[in-house]
Formats: sequence, C-alpha cells, structure tokens
Amino acid sequence: MAADRRVLVTGGAGFLGSHLCERYLAEGWEVLCMDNLSTGRIRNVEHLIGRPDFHFYHQDVTEFIHVPGHLDLVLHFASPASPIDYLEMPIQTLKVGSLGTHKALGLAKEKKARFLLASTSEVYGDPLIHPQKEDYWGNVNPIGVRGVYDEAKRFAEAITMAYHRYHQVDTRIVRLFNTYGPRMRLDDGRALPTFMGQALRGEPITIYGDGSQTRSFCYVDDLVEGIYRLSQSGYVQPVNLGNPDEITIRAFAEHVKAITGSTSELVHRPLPQDDPKVRQPDIGRARDVLGWEPTIPLKEGLQRTLDHFRHIGD
Ligand code: UDP
Repeated sequence: MAADRRVLVTGGAGFLGSHLCERYLAEGWEVLCMDNLSTGRIRNVEHLIGRPDFHFYHQDVTEFIHVPGHLDLVLHFASPASPIDYLEMPIQTLKVGSLGTHKALGLAKEKKARFLLASTSEVYGDPLIHPQKEDYWGNVNPIGVRGVYDEAKRFAEAITMAYHRYHQVDTRIVRLFNTYGPRMRLDDGRALPTFMGQALRGEPITIYGDGSQTRSFCYVDDLVEGIYRLSQSGYVQPVNLGNPDEITIRAFAEHVKAITGSTSELVHRPLPQDDPKVRQPDIGRARDVLGWEPTIPLKEGLQRTLDHFRHIGD
C-alpha cells in the first residue's frame, strides 16, 4: 500500500526538490529529504518538518550516504543548477554530478530501489539541431565555464546507464529544460528571478546580449507531474521534460515587465560565455511514453510566481 512506499530526494530542500517532496507526500509516500543546503534552503521544507512521514537529513551526497530502512525510489536532484551558482562552485558542481551520482546509485543498488536522475537540457550544449530530441548527442564545450555542469550531468547519465547495464539497477533519466516557479531564489542569477526582482524593485531589467537567444520555460507543477509519471513508468531511456513554447529572452523580459506592471527599462549587458543560442524540447517521447504535456501557460505561471514573490518575498 501507498504508506509503505519510501522515496529519498537528494537536493530535497532545493527549488525542484522541495516541490517533489510535497508531491510524493501528497501521493502517500514517506519522504526522506537530503540536502547539504549549499544552494537549497531549509525554509523550502520547513512546513514539512515535524510530519511523521517526512525526514530531513542535512548531509552532503558526495560523501558516503546511508539512510535507515527500505527505499523504493531515489530521486537524485542534488546539484547547483543556475549558471552563477555553478560558476561560483565549479568543483562542488562536478563532484555532486559525479561522486554524488555514484553514491546515490550505490544506495539505490544496496536498497534495490529505483533510481531517477535529474539530468538537463545542458547535455545538448549549444545545440546544432532544433528542437532537441533525446537522440541528439549535443554540442558541449568541455573546458568552457559552463562545462562543469554540462559535463557533470553527461557523466551522471553515463554512470546511471552503467549501473543499469552492469548492476541491473532500475534507472530513469529525465532531461529537464528551463523551469520556473515559486521557491526559486531571487538572487540565483537566472533569467526569471532576476527579471522579476529587478521589475519589482523598479531597477533596469538586464538582458544579456541582444536578447534574441531563446529558451522554453516550463512551470514547476507541470514538470513535477512529468517526473512523477516517469518515476512510475517502465521507461529507461532519457526523456525530455519541458515546455516547447519557445520565446526570446527579450520577449520574456517584456512579459515579466508587463505582468509586474513595472516601469523598469530594458538594458543590455554582455552575453555570458557559451550561452546557448536556442533551446526548445521535443517532447514527443514524453507524450508517447507518459501521456504528458505541459498545461500551464506562461502568463498563468508568471502570475503564480509573482504572487509567491510578492507574498513571501525571496
Ligand atoms: N539572462 C539575461 N539576463 C539575466 C539573466 C539571464 O538575459 O539577468 C539570459 C541568459 O543569458 C540566457 C537566458 O537568459 O540566455 C536564460 O538564462 P538562465 O540563467 O535562466 O538559464 P540557462 O538557460 O542559460 O541555463
């Protein structure tokens, strides 16, 4: 029965991890949340602490990890995930993607649990095919500043498949595209929280480059639904999850400005190194395998996120 099911969420106090903890609790799972709080925040899960079906472990997943009792599922979501975070913590980013994935896989093997890796659209790098399908091998600069994240996640996928093939661990790989929503950190440097913070403070909105680069933004609740379905499916190959609704960064900034009612001006700043020019998921596989597609339009997702930032602050 549902109450017997136990899931470990690494990075459980982060933006995505905390939403996943809530979702699995709502489905009747017992949730073990592990985080070293380097980019995650205890306040993301504060409201869950004290519940008998929720346990928090303040632990670094790159060290040997142990949790008591059986586990049915390990969701490996621990990693710095915004460019400024992984540029500030390049070694930790490489370690959590490599050593951390190794430890989390080892735990899943020991517990005979299913393992789901949070991979990323960054495995496609600055993509030469568009939109990106799962069978595209990517265009990543291994020695560029973003390489620490991209290559760590590529290694994480490789070791996940090795554990699947060699140790018969039951694995899943999700490649996440840009996601946004409540509990992003206003200072995490990503486009949405940066633009929203600037708009709310009446400061100039900083567009990197000419703003013609594109991204495809998925609201967090849609993403969590896809991850939940993938974790319950029998599908081992990587699956893209994201919203195919592609938009230029300039248009995105204008949306944020409009929804906040801000009078901020749009200003341009230099484009960071290796910033991908385009990004849009092909979600044909997620549609076929999971019957999944995003349902929350950008306008609604932005409104919900704005309500959160207005109500709770950062
Ligand atoms: N970006 C921007 N201004 C900012 C922050 C980000 O123009 O203040 C751009 C960034 O250069 C990139 C896009 O917005 O082209 C999305 O950046 P983000 O850091 O959110 O995620 P990425 O998809 O690059 O990992």
